[in-house]
Amino acid sequence: MNILTIDLEEWFHVVFEGDPAGWKNKESRVMKNTEFVLDELVKNDIKATFFTVGWIAREYPDLVKKINNAGFEIGSHSDFHRVVYKFSKSGFKADVKRSVESLEALIGKKVTSFRAPYFSLTNSVAGYLDTLVENGIEIDSSVCPVVTKYGGYKNFPSNEPCLIKSEHFTIKEFPLSSYRIFSKQILYSGGGYFRLFPFALIKLLFKQQQYNMTYFHPHDFDGRQPALNLSLIADTRRKIGAATAGDKFKKLLASFNFTDISASDKLINWDQVPVVNF
Ligand SMILES: [Zn+2]
Repeated sequence: MNILTIDLEEWFHVVFEGDPAGWKNKESRVMKNTEFVLDELVKNDIKATFFTVGWIAREYPDLVKKINNAGFEIGSHSDFHRVVYKFSKSGFKADVKRSVESLEALIGKKVTSFRAPYFSLTNSVAGYLDTLVENGIEIDSSVCPVVTKYGGYKNFPSNEPCLIKSEHFTIKEFPLSSYRIFSKQILYSGGGYFRLFPFALIKLLFKQQQYNMTYFHPHDFDGRQPALNLSLIADTRRKIGAATAGDKFKKLLASFNFTDISASDKLINWDQVPVVNF
């Protein structure tokens, strides 16, 4: 099962704790970059889920409507692309609520899937999952099994779709894919890892795995992003490989079949999947 997902955000949303008040003054690149992604998906007749930031829905309603009208699934990628573990539980709940309401008002249908910015739904805030359910979310794709600078879920017990259950709620989880090399888990299926690794390696890893959950961003394919006020290393890291990632993306779409989250949901027998108890 190969699942294609796009985290629909601006190029400057990579900045940890960015201030929304300043976003309108920055050059907008999301329209052009998303057009590239949409063109490639349509050309290859591939469906994908677009986890969309609520702010994007309010600033670029025509873009999100176009994606929805073209038959792509819209999920939530929070409202302001904030790190989950910096929120209080009620603050997180309000952020998700505003995002879901903005998206639903725009597309006229229920939003039932969610991905946390930076995969920041970590062990310390796992208890926040019930606020997703309270906001109508049935499917989460926020668990990253590798701990990174901003996110990741340490020792999550399933590497494939599973049910997370507590006394009060059940939610379907589509974790991010990882690959074990010796004792180390590596990421490969999106973002900087996809931009950095040679396509031959990515193709090999996709073939080896039964379940590939991808995560691309429109800015992954934008080699001409302006500089951000970051250290040279951080600014280089956020753009590395972007100039050639578009060609790799084309090759990936030509090499494998993909489905979106809702189609994958229907293919899974949820009575047979691992259950993670909270
Ligand atoms: Zn994001």
